[in-house]
Amino acid sequence: MRPDLLASLARQIVVADGATGTWLMAEGYLQPGEPAEKLNLEAPAAIRRLHRLYVEAGAMLVETNSFGGNRVKLGAAGLAEQAPALNEAAARLARRAVGQDVWVAGSMGPTGKLLQPLGDLDPEEAEEAFYQQAQALLDGGADLILIETMSDLQEAAAAVRGARRAGAPVILAQMTFGPGGRTFMGVDGTAAAQELLRAGAHGVGANCGDDWDGMRLAVARMAKEVAHRNQAGAKAGGDSPGPFVSALPNAGKPQLVDGKAVYPTTPQQFAEEMLDYLDLGVRLVGGCCGTTPEHIRALAQALRRRPA
Ligand SMILES: [Zn+2]
Repeated sequence: MRPDLLASLARQIVVADGATGTWLMAEGYLQPGEPAEKLNLEAPAAIRRLHRLYVEAGAMLVETNSFGGNRVKLGAAGLAEQAPALNEAAARLARRAVGQDVWVAGSMGPTGKLLQPLGDLDPEEAEEAFYQQAQALLDGGADLILIETMSDLQEAAAAVRGARRAGAPVILAQMTFGPGGRTFMGVDGTAAAQELLRAGAHGVGANCGDDWDGMRLAVARMAKEVAHRNQAGAKAGGDSPGPFVSALPNAGKPQLVDGKAVYPTTPQQFAEEMLDYLDLGVRLVGGCCGTTPEHIRALAQALRRRPA
């Protein structure tokens, strides 16, 4: 039976899985632009197989196939009504595939719409959509909610609040950072960590993006903010685990080869680059776009070889 995630992160590095969409497209289950979530009902065996490949490679935590599963995003594909069923199925599939010893993280990505005042999505409507999605993922057996690839801090905070209202025992909130370690709206890792922790996240981090230096800088700033809080918590004599930091980058910047996105970072390079993140204080490591079970296998092996 899997132990408490927050207590485990305080003791050890936890390896998460890699990309979902990359594999589904490479295996021909998904065409670009199609919602991957429909496969939870139409091709469940493929999703279970992907989860198992990652666990066999060394992942201790897998993400559900529900990245675009909020009803706002699914609405763009005419699937809004199916949101609860697709998310619950995503979590059930993952749990069935990995058993009781691996953590299942309910993935929640952006709505794809800009929030007011820049766009027309009401922040409360966004929070409701995330609340509904988190509820379905938890009903299906997710251990935690993993918010990811957010570029708008306001939307990420709405997702954290939605997950908290749904009763998520652990919430990890990840954003995507570009040049200078900032989101496209100019938010840096320090401000992001402060706001997301204030909204109720237990962990903060970065994922996706194709600017390796920018991501590293943002994660370093997040880690510094988290370290301050953990030092303050230890001084105050608290014994519950403090916040943690995660990093799940892409396998480099994709290059277009014969009309297809090819990610250049090899599994070995990826593993070496990920070890650098540990020096910053990152406790949860994994991959985003372009990473495969082989990238996760190389990462897990590199961690085992690393002196404790
Ligand atoms: Zn990505």
